Amino acid sequence: MSDFSSISFNRLYGHEKAKRLLNRSLMADRIAHAYIFRGPDGVGKKLFARGLAAALNCRDRRGVEPCGACSSCGKFKSMNHPDFMAIRPEKGVIKIDRIRQLGNELTYPPYESKIRVVVLEDVQTMRREAANSLLKTLEEPPENNVLILTGDSSKEILATLISRCQVVPFAGLSIADTAAILVAHGVAPGSAPLLARLSEGSPGKALLFQNAEMVTIWQEAVKVLSDPAVDPDRDVGILLRLADSVAALKEDLPAFLALLKIWVRDLLLGEDTLIDTQQGGDSRRKSWSSEQLFAKLRAIESAEMELARNCNRNLVCEVMLFRLQ
Ligand SMILES: [Zn+2]
Repeated sequence: MSDFSSISFNRLYGHEKAKRLLNRSLMADRIAHAYIFRGPDGVGKKLFARGLAAALNCRDRRGVEPCGACSSCGKFKSMNHPDFMAIRPEKGVIKIDRIRQLGNELTYPPYESKIRVVVLEDVQTMRREAANSLLKTLEEPPENNVLILTGDSSKEILATLISRCQVVPFAGLSIADTAAILVAHGVAPGSAPLLARLSEGSPGKALLFQNAEMVTIWQEAVKVLSDPAVDPDRDVGILLRLADSVAALKEDLPAFLALLKIWVRDLLLGEDTLIDTQQGGDSRRKSWSSEQLFAKLRAIESAEMELARNCNRNLVCEVMLFRLQ
């Protein structure tokens, strides 16, 4: 049961551990000055932050639940509460200037609430100087402020930052929960399970895949690469055209490569559910030995490294697709 317009984090799907931790804090009225919500992108960390802020400032809270009706709840629902701020990376980084400015802003009391909540999104994007500046704020937090840092658990976050915060763990959602969320966001019920699986339980990522038509190109790639009728020597044109459409994904390429790895991993585990969904269990497709599949994983990984080093995108895609044949 999930209500997306709700400001109660308890009504969101999954994340039982995070719910338990936050509910315990709310019940005991022991709120930390700073939390770090760690987990993959797109699984609901920001919604939880908004829910916690709403609960903290509700004028008529029932246990851990915001009433949903008071003036504070109303502003959280319409997403324009003056004491709820979000700081996001600009051009991929949270800059030191923004952190210094925040330090200054926090010295003023909240505008109209008991507690001002500031969400710092993707703190792994902070360089050392910015992180050190934030550390000072975390060491002596001005009263009536709660900072919620969010960060991708797969990326490195400065240990000193983590040590100043209460850690709240988040993980990928179940495929069923992710699919249900996608359907509620208007995704066709037929494609929701596949998108859910490919996003590894991240509704936010799944919606991005859908927008980028990445999944369509992925399906085409899987079809061409597994088709026994496609001969790499004779059908060079098919592979080159495919490489062009893959390269055109540009900044979505890393996500596309992650999808390809899921495909190879599924083949290694003998789980061909994805392919079956896509090709109706077509038995006329290539099969590979584990050695060949491991070689494919390495081909994708070296493409990832080359892209990170800004090698020519088209060339990287061509080489990779020929190695995946
Ligand atoms: Zn309320």
